[in-house]
Amino acid sequence: MHDWLIVGAGFAGSVLAERIATQRGETVIVIDKRDHIAGNACDHFDEAGILIHRYGPHIFHTNATSVVQYLSQFTSWRPYNHRVLARVDGQLVPIPINLDTVNRLYGLSLDSQGMEKFLAARREAVADIQTSEDVVVSTVGRELYEKFFQGYTRKQWGLDPSQLSRAVTARIPTRTDRDDRYFTDEFQHMPADGYTAMFANMLDHPNIDIELGTSWNPQRDQARARRIVFTGPIDEFFDYRFGRLPYRSLRFVHETKDIEWAQSVAVVNYPQTEAYTRVTEYKHLTGQVHPKTSLTYEYPTDDGDPYYPIPRPENQELYRMYRAAAERLPDVWFVGRLGAYQYLNMDQVVAQSLATFERMNAQRAPTAFARAAQ
Ligand code: FAD
Ligand code: UDP
Repeated sequence: MHDWLIVGAGFAGSVLAERIATQRGETVIVIDKRDHIAGNACDHFDEAGILIHRYGPHIFHTNATSVVQYLSQFTSWRPYNHRVLARVDGQLVPIPINLDTVNRLYGLSLDSQGMEKFLAARREAVADIQTSEDVVVSTVGRELYEKFFQGYTRKQWGLDPSQLSRAVTARIPTRTDRDDRYFTDEFQHMPADGYTAMFANMLDHPNIDIELGTSWNPQRDQARARRIVFTGPIDEFFDYRFGRLPYRSLRFVHETKDIEWAQSVAVVNYPQTEAYTRVTEYKHLTGQVHPKTSLTYEYPTDDGDPYYPIPRPENQELYRMYRAAAERLPDVWFVGRLGAYQYLNMDQVVAQSLATFERMNAQRAPTAFARAAQ
């Protein structure tokens, strides 16, 4: 019997496995239904020998020094500033929308002040910004909203931006200068040898056992450890007793081309055309030198692995019911994008996991193991 059973070998599960093993000196068994560690951040060398991300582009960026310090124990870093172009009206222009985006699309030569006036004349007054449509039309107006956001969001989420919480499109800023970086976080680096190598270092400890290709099985697994960390979908843990939480999935089509470069930046977005949302060319991210190039096309879908919790008020309501049930299980901890049903970036999952570890340590006397979910 182990002290802990951890379901999921992604960021949430691996950070907690590492902390518990090294700081509490307790034993951990990590299970994952996939045949690899690193969760959605998994990268590997494809048949051509190019390092690709199995589940689409993962770019590490954060303002949290503590997260960088923590992960730096397991990897060194390669500086990388992410840049994205969007194919709009037949042109490739910067997204987030910036001064160059507007000048190129409209054949103008505005300066920052001019762009500010341009936007002021177009933005719509929205008294109470609630939805993802509200966020964008109140910043850049309806025409740019339709060109850059409406079609992309409908593809990505299967919902109109007016049906999604504002947090979704609020992830994307608008700039009146020429800064064309996707993120402005202080720390923008990729793990020098890739994510999977970083995870292998995190999990390399005598107190940690790993079982891959193993799905959570409540009857079997509750007897395997005194405490559980669950980083799979929280509604699955409770056997969907309040109904299913909706998730959006993606189908990834990976392709290698016999040319050195296919596009000028790592990611090109397609808000107006194509069935896929974006195309990623990995060598831009990794710095790898190779005569061929590998790309991934992302096709959003409802079926498949749950990649994105869908931020809508009614889904939060349903999640709150699961959260309340979870709080009645003192020996089961729900963490990560699926365990907490939150649209979290990697650094946020690391921060959440480290904070969870602190809470575990603050929990004084060990509680009796609660037979989960029954
Ligand atoms: P996951 O990585 O999903 O790990 C959960 C693990 O649990 C999985 O390996 C799964 O197989 C396993 N599991 C689930 N259910 C079970 C079960 N029943 N039994 C056994 N195992 C189970 N974040 C960024 O910061 N920057 C980015 O650029 C970025 N790009 C992204 C691009 C895409 C396409 C996606 C989908 C996400 C992206 N993210 C990005 C978010 C990032 O993937 C997550 O923040 C991070 O992977 C979450 O870690 P996690 O451990 O919570 O979940
Ligand atoms: N978005 C969009 N057009 C774009 C880029 C983003 O409409 O060109 C919207 C879309 O709804 C997307 C959200 O902004 O889901 C957040 O974008 P982000 O790049 O952060 O998505 P992720 O990388 O998490 O898939």
